[in-house]
Amino acid sequence: MLPDIEKLLQLQVADQEIRKLKEEIAELPKRITAIEQKLAGTKAHLEKTRAAAKADEANRKKFESAIQDLQGKISKYRDQSLDVKTNDQYKALLHEIQFAEQEIRINEDRILEVMVNVEAREKNVQAAEAELKAETAEIEKEKEDARRVTAEDQKKLADWNARRDGLRREISEDILRQYERVLKHRGTGLAEVRAHKCMGCQVMLRPQIYNEVRIGEKVVVCDSCQRIFYYNPENDVIPEDGAGQTKKRPRPKSDSPQAWYYRPDFGEEGEVFLVFTNKDGNSTRRVYEIHTGRQIGGVLQREGNYRQAFPEDLTDTALRLNGHWEETEIDEWGSEIPSNILDALLKDLLAIHREQRATHKAHAHAPAEQSAAG
Ligand SMILES: [Zn+2]
Repeated sequence: MLPDIEKLLQLQVADQEIRKLKEEIAELPKRITAIEQKLAGTKAHLEKTRAAAKADEANRKKFESAIQDLQGKISKYRDQSLDVKTNDQYKALLHEIQFAEQEIRINEDRILEVMVNVEAREKNVQAAEAELKAETAEIEKEKEDARRVTAEDQKKLADWNARRDGLRREISEDILRQYERVLKHRGTGLAEVRAHKCMGCQVMLRPQIYNEVRIGEKVVVCDSCQRIFYYNPENDVIPEDGAGQTKKRPRPKSDSPQAWYYRPDFGEEGEVFLVFTNKDGNSTRRVYEIHTGRQIGGVLQREGNYRQAFPEDLTDTALRLNGHWEETEIDEWGSEIPSNILDALLKDLLAIHREQRATHKAHAHAPAEQSAAG
C-alpha cells in the first residue's frame, strides 16, 4: 500500500474520532439543560402546592372569623329578644337567629372541607419536596459527571488534533486536498475496493482501474464518487470461488490442449501469464502482464505442440496454472484479460505459492532436526 494511502487511513480514523468527540462535548450541556428544565418544573410544582396550602389556611381563618361574627350576632339577638314588646318583633329576631345558625353550619362545613384538603395538600407538599431533593442531588451528580467527561474528551480531542496535524503534514498536498474536498461533501474521503466495486458508491470498476488499485503503485480516485481508493486483499471477495483456502489446489492436466503458465522473469516485463494452445499440429502463445491483464505483443504461432515449439518459455521458474478458455473466447478478450479471469489466475498462483511455502517449511524443518541430533 502507498505510504500516502496508509497515512490517509490513519487520518480518516483521526477525523472520525475528532468528529465523535466534538459531538459528545456539544451533547453534554444539552443534557444538563434538559435536567435543569425538569428540576425547574419540579420546583414550580412545589411552589404551586405550597401556595394552595397557604390559600387553604387563609380560607379556614376566614370561615372561623365568620363563625365568630355570626355567634356574636346571635348573642346580640338573644339580648334584644328580652326587651321585645310585640310578638312580631320576637318572631323577626328568632328568624335572624335561625338564619345566623344556618350560616354557622355552612361555614363549619366549609372548614371541614378545607381540613380534609389540608391533609392531602400536606402530603403533596412533602412528596414535591422529596422529589426536588432527589432531583437536586441527581443533577449535581450529572453535572459533575458531565464536567469530568468533558475534561476527558477535551484532552482526547487535543491528542487527536495533534495526531491529525502530524499526519496531514506527512501526506502529499494534492492527495490531502482531494481527500478533504470529498470528505467535506460526502462524509468520507476514502473508499475500499472489494469484489471489483467501489464500496463508497457501489459502482463497478473497469478491470484496468481495479488492477491499478490492487497493485497499489499510484493513487487512484473513483470516477463516480471521487473518493480515493484503497485495497486490502484480506477484505476482498473474489466471487467465482466460494471454497475456502483449505481446499487442495487441483492439478492441471499435462496433456490438455491448452496450458497457462506464470513466469516471474519474462525479460523486461518481469511477471507474466502465458497461454499456449495446441491446434491442428500447430501451437500459439499469448503473453499478459499479471497485474493489469494487459496483453504483451501479439499472438505467436509455431509448428508442433507448444512443448516442442516454445521450449525457451518453459523454464525452471515457470509455473503451470489451472485454467481453460476457448480460443475464440480468448480472442474476444482483446488486449486485456477480464478481471474475473485475471483473479482466478492470480488466485491459483497464490495457491501455488502457499503450497510452496508449506513444502519449504517442511523441508527446512527436517535438516535442522538432523543437525541437532548429530
Ligand atoms: Zn465511488
